[in-house]
Amino acid sequence: MAIVAIHDTRLGPSLGGCRFIPYAHEELALIDALRLARGMSYKAAITGLPLGGGKSVIMRPAKAFDRTALFTAFGRFVDGLGGRYITAEDSGTSVEDMVVIRSQTKHVTGLPPKDGGGGDPSPFTALGVRRGIEACVRHVYGRDLAGIKVAIQGVGHVGYYLAKELHALGAKLTISDIDASRTNRVREELGATVVPNDQIFAQDVDVLAPCALGAILDDATLPQIRAKIIAGAANNQLAEARHGDALHARGVVYAPDYAINAGGLVNVHAEHHGHATGKGYDEKASREKVLAIHDTILEIVERAKATNVPSYRVADLIVEERLAKIPSTAAV
Ligand code: NAD
Repeated sequence: MAIVAIHDTRLGPSLGGCRFIPYAHEELALIDALRLARGMSYKAAITGLPLGGGKSVIMRPAKAFDRTALFTAFGRFVDGLGGRYITAEDSGTSVEDMVVIRSQTKHVTGLPPKDGGGGDPSPFTALGVRRGIEACVRHVYGRDLAGIKVAIQGVGHVGYYLAKELHALGAKLTISDIDASRTNRVREELGATVVPNDQIFAQDVDVLAPCALGAILDDATLPQIRAKIIAGAANNQLAEARHGDALHARGVVYAPDYAINAGGLVNVHAEHHGHATGKGYDEKASREKVLAIHDTILEIVERAKATNVPSYRVADLIVEERLAKIPSTAAV
């Protein structure tokens, strides 16, 4: 079974990945789709993209299945929505699946470079996170990244590229991952210090960059954290809103996850827009837009300080202000 959730189309067509994982039952899949679609509306709006929020989930069958037939059928489903929803990769789907979907609809993005696509979005996500970290470091310490100590939890797709970005600017890296092959690569290539995963939050660093799992800022980790800045790629980092309140009360600068990790979305949008207008994918223009994540994060953390409102709430308020200005009849 597949569900497409369209949360908001006031700013433009909804864009969000297709998640293909096992769900115990349909209600869980529906809740996931609705929650993720809302998150995409907020991510697009805070980044200034002409996009709404949507997401799809396909319940991965427990038994053997024909992957090509499944994604062909899904492509027809997406096409039937007439462009109100544009799909892309998410957990469990690949660029190859997007190529299959493309055989049925033009409302798909995240294609491989050989098909005129932007390929893996992770380097763009990492670039945006690096820009967000730069903004936070400038805000807190009034300086650039040279000599700044950063702890990265998770050096997978995004974490690896983030480590390279930060290393190139002179940051000192401490990393952890449950997969030793991932930490070995970053230690060998960049000279990062590797620590056990249960010690990453307690490191004496300037910045903590969560790039593995969601809900890691909770009652157990908050007391350990010594960094003055938390800025990383992971989605839904705050276990609950009150953990964002607690960080604010302690004076820790938290870069809201959906604002700092929007670089991948910027790139899949650039690809789709390029194809829709016939101009093709423009990597340079996409990078320029990702660099601007710096200013989005700076605006949020400065406003959080000036108004004494937690940064996660400031980001939501900026989005809600932007959406409220658009008449509801503007939905596409
Ligand atoms: P990934 O699976 O490639 O990397 C995650 C890494 O975290 C892996 O190396 C994994 O071994 C490690 N990990 C898993 N559990 C861990 C744990 N308990 N402790 C330490 N390390 C652990 O995923 P990714 O694409 O790099 O994404 C990382 C995070 O960023 C995810 O939360 C994802 O939702 C979010 N994100 C990714 C993108 C993107 O462009 N890929 C965009 C926006 C948000």
